[in-house]
Amino acid sequence: MSGLIQGLSSSPFIAGRAFLAAFLLALAARFQWGDFERPPEWFFCDAALWVLGALALAEITADKIPEFRELLLAVDNYVKPTVAFGITLGVFSPEVSSLLEPMVENPSVSQAGLLVGLQSSFGGGLLSVVLAGINAAGTLFLVRTRNTLLGILVESDQDDDSGLAGMTSWMTDIYVVGGIILFVFAPVVAFLLTGFALAAATWVQQEAERREQKVRVPCSACGHKNLTVALKCAKCGSALPEPKKLSFLGTATTSGAVSNLEQHRQSLLQWKRCPDCGTALPKKEFYQDCSSCGLQTFRDVNEAEKYLSRIEGKISQVLLISGALGLVPVLGLVAGVLYYRWSLIPNLRRYLTRTESLGGRWVVRGINFIILWFQPIPLLGALALPAMCLTNYKFYRSRFKAHLEKMRIEAQSGEYPPR
Ligand SMILES: [Zn+2]
Ligand SMILES: [Zn+2]
Repeated sequence: MSGLIQGLSSSPFIAGRAFLAAFLLALAARFQWGDFERPPEWFFCDAALWVLGALALAEITADKIPEFRELLLAVDNYVKPTVAFGITLGVFSPEVSSLLEPMVENPSVSQAGLLVGLQSSFGGGLLSVVLAGINAAGTLFLVRTRNTLLGILVESDQDDDSGLAGMTSWMTDIYVVGGIILFVFAPVVAFLLTGFALAAATWVQQEAERREQKVRVPCSACGHKNLTVALKCAKCGSALPEPKKLSFLGTATTSGAVSNLEQHRQSLLQWKRCPDCGTALPKKEFYQDCSSCGLQTFRDVNEAEKYLSRIEGKISQVLLISGALGLVPVLGLVAGVLYYRWSLIPNLRRYLTRTESLGGRWVVRGINFIILWFQPIPLLGALALPAMCLTNYKFYRSRFKAHLEKMRIEAQSGEYPPR
């Protein structure tokens, strides 16, 4: 198979992990695995292998740490297509790589030669550039699709309470390693898979668009398309007649009319959505502006207090249920931890910055680790889960309460609301 054509099918793997894919390709070239056309030597020299290896390691590690994962997501759209473009052109295009090689070996002599070479192989070079561009575009499309899917995941689980984002990260690593093995040893299969991946991505994008349209209704006053769960139009502020309930994952639905508006506002806040227009709030901060309607969260001291007391009202029920689950060894423990981490703690944690909860979080983890060992003991074990839940809850509530205290003091001195 021609190098360039094979290079084209690298996009699904580069879209997963750009540097891991590049490192594995260089490794395969170095040890002459598989039968892909020999890339230029600079691509798999010692220095290149070390640099690519370090970048790949950084890429894999960063994706496992939430703070860095967000950073990676922000640069994904630029880095991955660039790597795809560079690899297609520099590694899989015989014209361009043969031009680059003498220049890497002896930069001073080859500048003139490069110009002559560029002119003589202009046709072939141009084709390579076009194909590299196509590969970069394909990579960008796959990266966007991946982020759409991850976005749906993140929307309902911003702190990765379910551990799904972490699991996805490991699966991506495995998939890229497996994919590159295919790419090297069975290029035809990899090529077919790429076609399949692009087709699947097209379907996912269309489906996401359809889903997005389905949960939107036009405002009767201004025509702006609001989320079905919204109480007010994000554009003109007029009240919307029939807000719908949130699903149990906190996503917008098209069925189930809301009966108690005040309660619905609180539910929206619990899922970190704007209490007026229902738009998801992206930051982990106490005060933040809605990107659609500009409303600031907890602008009203009363609303913040009501929010906290509603969560405080849930604690007895959560403790009872986790106590009951704790009676079942192992499985009950897993279910119980998932249950309280999903149903209660995020309501508080969603509004705290990571630095705010960092130190204390490790203390809580330490305490919970000790409590965990009591769980297999009959009867005493039933208390372990509620105790773990309570330490978590107390810690995050104290952080949330600190904000409330600050608000009250600021309100008294006329400094609140801010701005
Ligand atoms: Zn409107
Ligand atoms: Zn809003």
